Amino acid sequence: MLPRKAEVIVIGGGVIGSSITYYLAKKRVNVVLLEKNGIASGTSSSCEGLVILQSKKPGVHLKLALESAKKFSNLKNELDYDIEYRNNGGMVVIENNEELKAMKIFVEKQKSLGLKVSLLDKNKAIKKEPALSCDILGSTFSPLDAQVNPIYLSYAFINSAKNLGAKIYTHTEVTGIKLKSNKIRLIETPVAEIETETAINAAGVYSPEIGRMVNLDIPIKPRRGQLLVTESIPKILNGVLISAKYIAAKFNPKLAEIEGEGISIEQTASGNLLIGSTREFVGMNKSTTLEGINSIAKHIIMLFPQLEEVNIIRTFAGFRPYTLDGLPILGKVKGIEGFIIAAGHEGDGVALSPITGD
Ligand SMILES: Cc1cc2nc3c(=O)[nH]c(=O)nc-3n(C[C@H](O)[C@H](O)[C@H](O)COP(=O)(O)OP(=O)(O)OC[C@H]3O[C@@H](n4cnc5c(N)ncnc54)[C@H](O)[C@@H]3O)c2cc1C
Repeated sequence: MLPRKAEVIVIGGGVIGSSITYYLAKKRVNVVLLEKNGIASGTSSSCEGLVILQSKKPGVHLKLALESAKKFSNLKNELDYDIEYRNNGGMVVIENNEELKAMKIFVEKQKSLGLKVSLLDKNKAIKKEPALSCDILGSTFSPLDAQVNPIYLSYAFINSAKNLGAKIYTHTEVTGIKLKSNKIRLIETPVAEIETETAINAAGVYSPEIGRMVNLDIPIKPRRGQLLVTESIPKILNGVLISAKYIAAKFNPKLAEIEGEGISIEQTASGNLLIGSTREFVGMNKSTTLEGINSIAKHIIMLFPQLEEVNIIRTFAGFRPYTLDGLPILGKVKGIEGFIIAAGHEGDGVALSPITGD
């Protein structure tokens, strides 16, 4: 049975809502999380788990990621759950001279903001990741880059939050929000209403629907990413890796159309490779396409020739909650007292979840 009242209601049980609920519970706030399906049933289970700092735009984006990275190293103990966090560093692979020029500038900017990152020539890059092709030009490397299992991370936040007194209701959809004098008053679900003065919209790509309940237009749209999963193989990667094109495509949708979307790859704790991903605006169409999967597969074989012999066992797609400036929308909303937004993390929600929650 739902409670009649709550101090704070979090809407959405993805990695962001779960993290927020955990940090609130830690501060002894009476918090209720409402999730329309299961925990991590949205984007947070249709993604990779790169906690990669190098892909963040120098500025507030990178600052948030640096703070989040600090929290990750404590979380693996704090949450008492194996979240498969591994901090083995990461690379941005450079394939041509244009990318080299762009990455030199990107790296200098990142360094000036405190990121430990360096440029490696081809030999040094291949020494770090021996499976890489000899055709690459070089790479960057940051020892701060890491990976985590996003589904386990969401459950870890939820379990710890529950232990601290948070109330979690799955299969409970928020269907309406009632205001009184422009203040949050009631959250409606098909079963009952809950009184509250604070509602946190952590509904990812669905946050505009929640926004409409309070007459607010939230500029977030779904950006599909297709991924492929290989069979489990012996360790071929030491850390995580993205291509320089990935950074270009992430921040410039036009470039993604011309240049392709770039590549990301991680080897999970079970030995499977997660390889992504496309960046497409196709509404809420969650299918994978032969074209998308082919382009990822071709690119990854160029970078790691030995993968030609490895089987793909599954493909899937997820929706990144995209915002125009690539930054999440975080905080209070002027004119609607008690309404807080924490959504729009695009391809960085896993990495930014600890700092967002806190
Ligand atoms: C292909 C791909 C690869 C990615 N790789 C990475 C990566 O390597 N590293 C990284 O940091 N990020 C990555 N991301 C991005 C990351 O997955 C997202 O930013 C993050 O999962 C968003 O989390 P969220 O909690 O905001 O949204 P979601 O996980 O979608 O959670 C929102 C929840 O709200 C619920 N909800 C919606 N409406 C309602 C309602 N009315 N009532 C109650 N509940 C509701 C939904 O059911 C859902 O569970 C990737 C994304 C994709 C698609």
